[in-house]
Parts: sequence; structure tokens; C-alpha cells
Amino acid sequence: MLKIHRAGHLLINPWQIIENGFISVENGIIVDISAGNSCNRLRSNISLNNSNHNISSYSSAASDTRTEVIDYGPGILMPALANAHTHFELSALKGKIPFNIGFNGWVRELIKQREECSVDTLRLEAEKAIKTAVETGTSLVGEISTLGITEDIFADSDIGGVWFQEYLGSFGENFKNISGKDISSIQRKKRSIAGHAPHTTSPELLRLLKQQTKRANLPFSIHVAESNDETEFITTGQGRWADFLKERGIDFSLWKSSSNNLNQLNKNFYSKFALSRSPVQYLQDMGLLDNSTLAVHLLNVDSQDIEIIAKTQAKPVFCPKSNFNLHQKLPDIPLFLKYGLKPALGTDSLASTESINMFDEMLYVAEKFPNINPSEILAMATVNSAEALSFGKIAGTIEKGKRAYFIYIPLNFSLNTSENNISEIIMRIVEYKSTK
Ligand SMILES: [Zn+2]
Repeated sequence: MLKIHRAGHLLINPWQIIENGFISVENGIIVDISAGNSCNRLRSNISLNNSNHNISSYSSAASDTRTEVIDYGPGILMPALANAHTHFELSALKGKIPFNIGFNGWVRELIKQREECSVDTLRLEAEKAIKTAVETGTSLVGEISTLGITEDIFADSDIGGVWFQEYLGSFGENFKNISGKDISSIQRKKRSIAGHAPHTTSPELLRLLKQQTKRANLPFSIHVAESNDETEFITTGQGRWADFLKERGIDFSLWKSSSNNLNQLNKNFYSKFALSRSPVQYLQDMGLLDNSTLAVHLLNVDSQDIEIIAKTQAKPVFCPKSNFNLHQKLPDIPLFLKYGLKPALGTDSLASTESINMFDEMLYVAEKFPNINPSEILAMATVNSAEALSFGKIAGTIEKGKRAYFIYIPLNFSLNTSENNISEIIMRIVEYKSTK
């Protein structure tokens, strides 16, 4: 059946808005977009009233196919949002971990609190969080799961995207858990794997994880350049993080010398470990950065690091609210934009942010970086995030051939596209849909 969705306005991408728009959808795929008083796909001009969600059915005798027309009203249909970095698994920890105890303290508290939570509680809160994400306009996510408990919840939910099984630690203890079976993809949900971070995961394991995702043509995600502790560890092999690993019985000295199992090429590489110029450089040296790697956070970077991200075409993913809560610092988003990069936006988990509503995250970026064009901010939460999650061909914009991932915003103000420029319109939508 052909479904025609009509609204007063269509924001088909962050740079283009059309008045009185129609989106024709067949089998979940957008087959036509038109504007004006009638829709291309309707044989006769059908006048539509503006009452909310007015649904009418029409039969075409010629083709014997039914057409359903859904009139949403005078507001805006826009692309559904994509949250490139979440940990729904940690939703039960919302409000339980103080943000002002330093990153190391936060990690310790997170581990403690998570151990104290029952699996049932973690699952229940994850389910609720996914529901909230859908209700606040998100249709795709990059969900990172360390415990593996959100896999079936994600699979059964209304949300799409990539579910990443995250690994950390040393080579031996994790290797057996990874097999070809770990990777599969179904429809708009993909299952992939992620490495936790350069300072928590051995180089051998990181390389193995990346190799597996590469072979399966799946995205790979990793936190990188988030904390000062991480930078200190990667550049000196010492400091608070080194102490933390020792305290937990993790012998990272083996990370440098475990080259026995590896071939000569890798042996040369691993002999360089632990003293890299920066976490980003470290990942590049390992061959972990390419156009299917989501490099999450990138808080402690210099221009050389940004050049590496640009050259390798890795996807920068920012979670500014979480960064500020935990590190009192923001990623230099304007500098990344200056390099022509297309950053994706994520919320991170409810253990480090108050909200997983992407409109809240967009508003935060707009407030902290008033010079960034609102279209760029919306792109981060739609087209760029969809692209980073490898869904760029089917989501992120309202476009012929893409899937019908769009949301309706019933605006509380009248809109005249000839008077309001698109930046103003986007900001009004963001303010309206934000919970702040
Ligand atoms: Zn994270």
C-alpha cells in the first residue's frame, strides 16, 4: 500500500525546507517527495484539511491499490534523529554517581554501582531509556554494551542502529569470546563489536576487534582522548591510570611484550606501545582508524590529531554534556568543522548525563557554541550520526530511496518559511522539543 504523509512543512535535510509537503512511502521506502497543493502520487487532487493526523483512504480502480493519506497538520515533518553513542545498559545508574569526583573516581564508582545493581534492574531501566529515546524522536542509536544485557532488548525494540558488544582488558581473557558468530546484521539493526579505549584494552585485542569488524564490513567504535588520565597513560605509561590498572591486577606490561604470538610485522609495532604522542596517534599507529571507525569523545586533541582524523576519515563522535559533567571540558567542535569534518552527536549514558533526549544535546551544543550554524548542529544529530553508524544510505535525511525515518513536530508557533530563515526554524524546533 502507498502511504502519503503530508504536513505544512518538510525539513527534508538540515539545509532545506519546503512548504506544504508530501512524502510518498511504499513498503517503508520513500518513493516521492512533492510540494504544493497536491501530491504527484495522487491521481486526482485531493484537498486535505489540517486537523492533526487526519487519515483518509483512497482506492484507485485503475491499479487496484489502496492509498492511505496521513495529514499531520501545519507543523514540520523532519528526519528522525540518530544518537551515535549511548550506553542504555547504564541507565539504572542515573543520578547515582556524582560528577564532581574526578574521572578516575567516577569510573570506580560506576563499576561499584553497576555491580550492586541486579541484572533485572539494569534491563528494566535500559528498556525504559530506549522507549524514552524513541519518544523523543530518535530512530537510530549506537548502543555500547559491556555486559551484553541490552542485545535482546535492542533487537525487540522500536529503535534501529548498531548494537556494539564492547570488549576491554587483555588479549587472553577476552579472545575466546570473540568469534565470527558475534557479528550479524538484520534489517535496520546491526550487531558489531567495540573496543573500550586505548588505555583499558590491550593493543592485540583492539587490533583483533577492528580486524573482525573490517572483515564483516561493520562499524567499529572506540572511546578515545577522553580523559587526562588516558593521555598520561598513553604518552608515559605511568600515572593515575597505570596505578588503577595495577590495583585491579591488570598487568599492562604484558601489553607491550605479548608479541610472541604475533608475526614479525606486529612485533615491530608492539615494541612501540605505551609511549605514543597522543591517544589518537596511538590508534592510527595500530591501524584502527578508517572510515568505519567511530572515534568517540576526542576531548584531548591537538591539530595534528584532528589532521589524523581527517586523513583517515574516521568518524568523530561528540558527547558534550557528558564531557562537561565528567571533565569540565568541551570538545573543540568548531575546530573539527573548520577541518571540513562532519561530526556525529551522541548523549553517552545516563550515568554521565541527565538526558538522552537528542534535542537537549543539540540545545546544549547551540548554547555552548553560538557561532555554529544550527543546520550543522542538526546535521550532527541526523545525517552525520546516521552516516557514522553506516546507515547513511537509508537514513538521516528525507530523500527518495531512503527509508521513512521521519518525525512530526506540531509547532506551537506559526511558521512562514519566507520570513523565518532555516537556522531560526531549527532553533525553534530544538527549543520546543528540548525538555529544558
Ligand atoms: Zn561511552
